[in-house]
Amino acid sequence: MTQDCIFCRIAAGDIPARKVYEDDAIVAFHDLEPQAPVHVLIIPRRHLSTLLEASADDAKLLGALQFRAIEIARELGLESSGFRLVTNCLAGAGQSVFHIHLHLLGGRKFSWPPG
Ligand code: AMP
Repeated sequence: MTQDCIFCRIAAGDIPARKVYEDDAIVAFHDLEPQAPVHVLIIPRRHLSTLLEASADDAKLLGALQFRAIEIARELGLESSGFRLVTNCLAGAGQSVFHIHLHLLGGRKFSWPPG
């Protein structure tokens, strides 16, 4: 746990969030400023600032995050309409919270390429 990391503090329960899932490795909660009718963030409890910090040892965790996102997408009714999974890596790609997270977005039409 990194004391000054907002997502570490949400995972620890120190800061409130609308959680939709948690286990010993992963926490998922609704984004505070949703960009779509469904906007859930899926994070590891372990603090990794960016995807670039992940090592081969983290491959299983990264897969588990993606699999959890798919399960949550199903639970939130996105199975037919579809959904988008996004991870921004570094500020240039739009990352603003430096604790890795997957955005699960759904419930509206998305364009490509992303802005
Ligand atoms: P990114 O810009 O890709 O790093 O995504 C960070 C996301 O975290 C943004 O969509 C924010 O709206 C969201 N966010 C920031 N603080 C909180 C919070 N306390 N609870 C829920 N979502 C948050």
